[in-house]
Amino acid sequence: MSTSEVIVIGGGITGCATAYELSKRGVKVTLFERESIHAMASGWTLAGVRQSGRDATELPIAREAIKRWAHLGEELEAELDYVQNGNLRLALVPDHEAMIRQVVADGNAAGIPMEYLDTADAVRQIAPEVNETVVGASFCPTDGHADNHKVVRAYDDAARRLGAAIISGEEVLGLTTHGDRVTGVTTAKGSYTADVVVVAAGIYTPRLLESLGLYLPLNIVHCPVAQTVPTDDFTLSPVLGVATGSFAARQTVGGGVRFIGASVPWNEGQHTPANVGMTVRQKENMTRNAIAVLPRLADLRIERVWGGLIDDTLDLIPVFDAVPSHPGLVVGAGFSGHGFGIGPMSGEILANLTTEGGDPRFDLSPFRLHRFAEGVTEVEAELFG
Ligand SMILES: Cc1cc2nc3c(=O)[nH]c(=O)nc-3n(C[C@H](O)[C@H](O)[C@H](O)COP(=O)(O)OP(=O)(O)OC[C@H]3O[C@@H](n4cnc5c(N)ncnc54)[C@H](O)[C@@H]3O)c2cc1C
Repeated sequence: MSTSEVIVIGGGITGCATAYELSKRGVKVTLFERESIHAMASGWTLAGVRQSGRDATELPIAREAIKRWAHLGEELEAELDYVQNGNLRLALVPDHEAMIRQVVADGNAAGIPMEYLDTADAVRQIAPEVNETVVGASFCPTDGHADNHKVVRAYDDAARRLGAAIISGEEVLGLTTHGDRVTGVTTAKGSYTADVVVVAAGIYTPRLLESLGLYLPLNIVHCPVAQTVPTDDFTLSPVLGVATGSFAARQTVGGGVRFIGASVPWNEGQHTPANVGMTVRQKENMTRNAIAVLPRLADLRIERVWGGLIDDTLDLIPVFDAVPSHPGLVVGAGFSGHGFGIGPMSGEILANLTTEGGDPRFDLSPFRLHRFAEGVTEVEAELFG
């Protein structure tokens, strides 16, 4: 049996950033990842770093994250391809205009500098490749994007340099307890004890919590993604999104255009982390929608397609919690399709919950795990305690 002060479950951006933040404080950390780092959402993501369009409860965290991104590469001693060229959320038809104007109003009310661009010309001055039929767009100049693989690897490397043990290919099978206190984890190779276990296991978080009688309902959706070959003949400097959420795109620093299509409910039997493909129909729909927004995409060769699974909570905001009913348990999950941009803050918040029991900078009450248990039916309560 091996002992750590903290065990982190999950090697995505959330777990790796948490391992780094804890190691920086001199905490002895072991992270278990069942596949390899960035094997799931943090590897599949579009990797936009945005404040605009977020739930108001998340905005203070997103705002702090933007400050952190500015110096993150320097701090982690790695190139992260972080680019801060803004985010345009497009109104493609007049019916979308009111929705997009509301995004601007909400952002401005929360102190985020954003404007509504009310002509196609104004939008195309920022993104000339956007179809001239566009009606308008919100623009948030402080949003951006980064290279997701480089970011997670940089956190992994930095945590290791500070002494963290990052173990890939070892799945946590269960949490161990003494009474209600969480005391460690078991894997196929043995048992490991810790003062605190941080669960940052993405879509598999509910499975781990269920064994403790804890309830985290997630709707898992599958989102198709494509990336073109790198090109000098196409420039998209901001990240794009649309009012309906059925399309988003960015151009990587290497020149490839990455875009996503509409999500559909996940058929659990259909996909595994090793095989998250998409159907021919999903690919056709995704490509058709993308070309409607960026017509010249039709001239670019698609290099790679994949699908990504997204862990939507019922209120579409994550869980950040040192679970009061289970001392020694901290949860960071349910990022609902926008956990990459706030990843650096998630790491800080989870480290603070681990070492201090809270984070004085943010009101974390909306992010409690038990918010879901409060509305469960009697049958569910029997099942989940
Ligand atoms: C297509 C797509 C587009 C997206 N676009 C954006 C975007 O533009 N901007 C944005 O901010 N966010 C975006 N997101 C969301 C963002 O990528 C995720 O919220 C974020 O990556 C979640 O990171 P995570 O570390 O919490 O989870 P994950 O990256 O899923 O990591 C969890 C890890 O836990 C491991 N694990 C699970 N169970 C166990 C176990 N029992 N033992 C050990 N390890 C285990 C898994 O293998 C996995 O590696 C997008 C997501 C997708 C799929």
